[in-house]
Amino acid sequence: MRIWIRNAIIITMEDGDTPFNGDITIEGDRITGLYREEDVHQHQLSSQQFDRMIDANHMIAMPGLINAHQHSPMNLLKAFSDDLKLMDWLEQKMFPAEARMTAEDIYWGSKMSMAEMIRSGTTTFADMYIHMNDIATAVEETGMRASLTRGLVFIDDQAQQRLVEAVDLVEKWHHAADGRITTMFGPHSPYLCPPEQLRHVIELAEQYKRPIHIHLGETKEEVAIMRERYNQTPTQYLHELGLFENAHILLAHGVHLNTEDIHALTGMRGGVSHNPVSNLKLGCGIAPVTELQRNGITVGLGTDGAGSATTLDMFAGIKTATWLQKLHYGDPTVLPAYKAVQMATLDSARLLNIDHETGSLQVGKKADVILIDLDKPHVQPVHEPVSLLAYAVQGSDVHTTIVNGQILMDNRELVTMDEQLVLAEGKQRAKRIVEGV
Ligand SMILES: [Zn+2]
Repeated sequence: MRIWIRNAIIITMEDGDTPFNGDITIEGDRITGLYREEDVHQHQLSSQQFDRMIDANHMIAMPGLINAHQHSPMNLLKAFSDDLKLMDWLEQKMFPAEARMTAEDIYWGSKMSMAEMIRSGTTTFADMYIHMNDIATAVEETGMRASLTRGLVFIDDQAQQRLVEAVDLVEKWHHAADGRITTMFGPHSPYLCPPEQLRHVIELAEQYKRPIHIHLGETKEEVAIMRERYNQTPTQYLHELGLFENAHILLAHGVHLNTEDIHALTGMRGGVSHNPVSNLKLGCGIAPVTELQRNGITVGLGTDGAGSATTLDMFAGIKTATWLQKLHYGDPTVLPAYKAVQMATLDSARLLNIDHETGSLQVGKKADVILIDLDKPHVQPVHEPVSLLAYAVQGSDVHTTIVNGQILMDNRELVTMDEQLVLAEGKQRAKRIVEGV
């Protein structure tokens, strides 16, 4: 499909770029032109050359948001067990509920999550869960881009089966769905992965040349467990096992990191997904985002599963991330608007190791573009559009969502899924699951 987006406020999210008015052209799955308003006439674009023309007057055109840490089927488990401590919430509520979920529940739960993501401008997400074949099928059908990971915990006799599924996911789905799906290996966390098993996963990642997605330093309790078990911090534990030597690593959370931990992460390939809404809601603490960035470590943005975060609106995450750093340092100049939005786009793409294809608007990159409607009181006047993105825009202001050159939401209408059916399936399945917990 050939799409011509006209008269937009274009924000590329490339370093040093400033917003400009102009047009974007898309052919097939790629961006073919970014034209400044004053130059558009030189290129003699005409409507006959395109299948679709979108008048984006009063709209921002920007790269789609990238959610760097998700557990998409947990959408079915949101808002039934809040305001509990993380370990109580996990052990008494999430694990029993997850044990009741079938592969079909996971398919529909992840689809409901994708409906919410597309509606709020997320075009790509990094997912870690079970029954990944069903999630991959849902990604293929909805048209989103995703980096999929089979979560690996080594706590019972099912560990070997999980490993088989992890390898199967990588072999079967990497670069599938027109290249929209990539894969990673997903050892869950330092406290659920003993040294020998973790070393084995690192070897697999090296053998298949895939990144590793792992939780790290989410709570104080985790730090205490690792101190008691190994007399190490969770980061030291991973570092000494050689996690950071060869593979590209996506670390989720990184809330509890001391100065030596940050030093150990300096120079790593990949980086940290900051998940501020989930961290705040579970009372985990404030991640040292500014310090990580000052040490050259890439920090992207994620929501974590809706079970903890409750919302998948990445604009809520952008606001929360910047507010938290300003509060923590008592300094409004830290984590400025542009960087906060870049965390949710280009920096998250770097974490997923797909920044050569997406994460910013650039001719030749994949056409993952969202349009944001500013013709509303809460986002007017437009003095500085990036400030509006960071501090005022909400997910519901997203007007159109395009992934890989395909329109997934057109003027707030979902195109690639039957939203009523997804809602009906999601509601009925969620009710059955939580009734037994
Ligand atoms: Zn998580």
